[in-house]
Amino acid sequence: MAEGTVLVIEDEENLQEALKYNLEREGYDVLTASDGERGLSLARDKRPDLVILDIMLPVLDGLEVCRILRREHDTPIIMLTAKGEEVDRVVGLELGADDYITKPFSMRELLARLRSVLRRTRNQSREDTLPSSELLTSGDLQVDLAGHTVRLGDKELELKPREFDLLALLVANKGRAFTRDQILERLWGQDYIGDARTVDVHIRWIRQKLETVPGSPNRIVTIRGVGYRFQG
Ligand code: CA
Repeated sequence: MAEGTVLVIEDEENLQEALKYNLEREGYDVLTASDGERGLSLARDKRPDLVILDIMLPVLDGLEVCRILRREHDTPIIMLTAKGEEVDRVVGLELGADDYITKPFSMRELLARLRSVLRRTRNQSREDTLPSSELLTSGDLQVDLAGHTVRLGDKELELKPREFDLLALLVANKGRAFTRDQILERLWGQDYIGDARTVDVHIRWIRQKLETVPGSPNRIVTIRGVGYRFQG
């Protein structure tokens, strides 16, 4: 049983090989790319469990790759920085990298960081998908997770199972934006080969039942370029 898939985006050949060798020895499946563009396309196609991302890369630099990846997925990212790239490190973390490690580093240190990031992010996605309470309320909206029912004021809404799951995810994480890919992954599973428009369609159906004016929604709002957020 593999530990997961790690994508290494690093243009220094020796370092890339050393990372691949050590990660494989620890039981990870390893994908490699030597420039940012290739790395980004591998990340999109293969959906690795974690990305190790160098900052100084040909074609597309690591910060840009990080920015684009973060907009599309919540794949954990560990950035590799050279000494003196303090500013890049800060920018990387602001862009949403989960951790960074400064070159030169020991493989033992890298593996420890990697395990800790994976542990942290795996726990997080479990926690935010499973709300702690069985009854979610927001204003006059009540989502009963145990009974699988939704009430708006004194009216019960008829939601299909997938619509219910999607609404419950958004309401349980009120105020938090989800990308279409995050929603697809949580509701349809990682192996679902589908289109982000599936999410849009389900959102539209939910809005027709939930919103006073479905065409100008004020409960489930669209975050342009990101996805959706439940705001009340
Ligand atoms: Ca480099």
